[in-house]
Amino acid sequence: MLFGLRLVSEAADLAARRHNGMARKGRGSEPYINHLAEVANLLSAATDGVDAELVAAGWLHDTVEDTPTTRKELAARFGARVAALVVEVTDDMTLPKTERRQKQVVDAPHKSPSAKLIKIADKISNIRARIPGDLTPEERDDLVDYVAFAESVVAGCRGVNAILDREFDDTVKLARSAL
Ligand code: ZN
Repeated sequence: MLFGLRLVSEAADLAARRHNGMARKGRGSEPYINHLAEVANLLSAATDGVDAELVAAGWLHDTVEDTPTTRKELAARFGARVAALVVEVTDDMTLPKTERRQKQVVDAPHKSPSAKLIKIADKISNIRARIPGDLTPEERDDLVDYVAFAESVVAGCRGVNAILDREFDDTVKLARSAL
């Protein structure tokens, strides 16, 4: 088993390899790894770097959803807690988008405290990516829609970490001012 910085850097390395060649939505098609770095860094900053497994799970949070990576593999390499956290924030991609989003809102209050933090960090990063300079009408609609969705999910995730809660609120304010 890996611990501390070794755990986090192995997680970053695997995430970079698995998401290689993928671009994220919004903000000039940034490499997907930028999203993972942002989420991991938000988690590390909000918890003052005391929870390496949480930060590792931040790096890996989209691997099961978007790449051929299994819970079993993550558990073997990073331990049961990291694997469980990633699975907790993994959407069932066989469901249509509307149902997936609805399920996120309904399930959010029942997630573990650490999974709630990953959810909030993920939503902060996804909103930020939707606030470039000049928004097209479609981008504007997408931002309005995503912020409303993110607020519903985060409503069920609040109260674990005040720094992350505030960061989310500031991000929503920024998004609203961009509209
Ligand atoms: Zn994500």
